[in-house]
Amino acid sequence: MTDYDVIVIGGGLLGCFAARNLTRYRLSCALLEEQSDICTGISRTNTAVIYGSQDNMPGTLKADLCKRASDGFDGLCGDLGVEFHRCGSLMLCFGDGGLKKLERCLSRGNENGVKGLRIIERDEILALEPNINPLV
Ligand SMILES: Cc1cc2nc3c(=O)[nH]c(=O)nc-3n(C[C@H](O)[C@H](O)[C@H](O)COP(=O)(O)OP(=O)(O)OC[C@H]3O[C@@H](n4cnc5c(N)ncnc54)[C@H](O)[C@@H]3O)c2cc1C
Repeated sequence: MTDYDVIVIGGGLLGCFAARNLTRYRLSCALLEEQSDICTGISRTNTAVIYGSQDNMPGTLKADLCKRASDGFDGLCGDLGVEFHRCGSLMLCFGDGGLKKLERCLSRGNENGVKGLRIIERDEILALEPNINPLV
């Protein structure tokens, strides 16, 4: 039997990040994963979008954490030697109702301090992403 100060149970993204952050302290830590390797479940098969917090209500913990996590990815990937490129993402909307939602995201994102957000029109969208159905 080995004694540890902290044992993190579950080696998905959250457990791995928790364990990594704990290594900054003078603690003996262990990470327990029931599968044969870490990040074999949801953490391996997600969409790989890094949320910038434009969807989150300003002033909430979630908005703050999403913003800080997104901002930290360049440094994190540099530390881990993982290639990382901010390619941006498109949120598409259709009709007047959709535009209102998009404007709300823009306003929330600006309030949350997300950089580079802007609303673009159809021609620019199709130039950026030709696979979007041009008939819509
Ligand atoms: C379809 C889909 C798309 C998504 N897309 C995105 C996205 O684009 N961007 C984004 O930020 N998030 C996305 N998410 C959410 C994100 O993937 C999850 O929030 C994240 O992976 C959860 O990580 P986790 O460590 O909490 O859980 P998990 O990855 O599920 O890790 C839990 C780990 O604990 C282990 N475990 C469980 N019980 C025990 C036990 N008793 N003992 C030891 N080990 C145990 C499991 O084997 C597993 O490895 C998406 C989710 C889904 C389903």
